[in-house]
Amino acid sequence: MSKEYVVLDLEWNQGYPKHEHSDIPFEVIEIGAVKLDQDKKIIDRFESLVRPAVYKKLFFMSAKVTGISMGELKEADPFPEVFKRFMDWCGEDYIFCTWGSMDLTELRRNIRFHKLEPLSRGPLPFLDIQKLYSLEYDDGKSRLALKKAVDLLMIEKTDAFHRADSDAFYTAEIFMRLNQRGLEKYESYDLYRLPATKADEVHALFPTYSKYISRGFTNKRSVLHDKEAASVRCFFCDKPTQITIPWVSVNGKQYFAMGKCAEHGMMRGHLRIKKNWDGVIYGMKTIRPAKPGDEGELRQKEKTMKEQEKKLKKMFRNNSSETRGI
Ligand SMILES: [Zn+2]
Repeated sequence: MSKEYVVLDLEWNQGYPKHEHSDIPFEVIEIGAVKLDQDKKIIDRFESLVRPAVYKKLFFMSAKVTGISMGELKEADPFPEVFKRFMDWCGEDYIFCTWGSMDLTELRRNIRFHKLEPLSRGPLPFLDIQKLYSLEYDDGKSRLALKKAVDLLMIEKTDAFHRADSDAFYTAEIFMRLNQRGLEKYESYDLYRLPATKADEVHALFPTYSKYISRGFTNKRSVLHDKEAASVRCFFCDKPTQITIPWVSVNGKQYFAMGKCAEHGMMRGHLRIKKNWDGVIYGMKTIRPAKPGDEGELRQKEKTMKEQEKKLKKMFRNNSSETRGI
C-alpha cells in the first residue's frame, strides 16, 4: 500500500435568503490540506483562498467564523485555477480524509458547477476521521466537533479553528493519534454520485461487517424487490444465505433481516433506504455475523410490524365503510 493521505478541509460561503443558487448552495472560499505518507507523517501542506464566482457578499456566519474578508477573497484565484493547482498537488495515489462527510459532497458540487472533470463518476471512497475517532475513542456512533476532539486528545492549539489549513492540520493531528489496527480499512463513501449501474455498485468488506451501496431507484419498493439489494450474503463466504427472517421495518426507513449460511451460521442484515440530494432512492446495507439476542430483537420488530399492519388495515376498513355510508 503506497497510498498517501490527503487530509482536506474547506471553508465556504452561502447566499442570503432569496439569493441562494440551488446548484451551489455552498461556495468554496478556501481549500486547506495536509498530506501524510503511509506512516502518517506530514510531508506537505496546501492552502489557498478562492475568489467567489456566485456569492459576492460574505454570509455573516461565514465572515464571523472564518474571519476572512471579501477584500482578501477578491485577490484570490478563481475556483477552476485553485482546484487544478490542488489536484496537481494531491498527486496520483492518495485517499481523501475529512472531518465528517460534508466537505467532499460540497466540493464535488462546486466542481460540477464549474463544469470541471469530476473527482469520480460514482461513489468516492474517503476516510471520515470524525467517524474513525468515534470508533477508537467512543461508541462508534457519536460525532464530536473538531475542537472537542482536539481538546480531549490534548493536542496543542497553535492556530484558530475554522480556517481550512488549521482545521485540516488538526484533523491530521487527530488521524495521527488513531492507533487501532485496521481502522483505516473503514472507508466511507461520498455519495454525491451514486453507482451508475449494477456493475458499479459498492461491495466493501470491513473487519467486522460488509457494506453494499445500490445504484439509484425510483422508489423504495424497487429497492426491496431487487435481488441483490434484498439478499443477505454471508459475511465470511459472500454466498446468499437462506433467509430466516425476511426484511422487517417499524419505521419504513430501516429494515432488518436474518439469514443462515449452512457453513458459517446466522447473519444479520441492516438495510437503510435513503434519498440522495437529487431525490434518487438507494439502499445502503450492512451485514455482520449475528450476535446472541439478534434473533429475539428482530422477531420483536416483526411482531410490532405485523400489529401496525393490522391496525392500518382496520383503519382503512373503517374509513372505507364510512365513505360508503354503511
Ligand atoms: Zn458462509
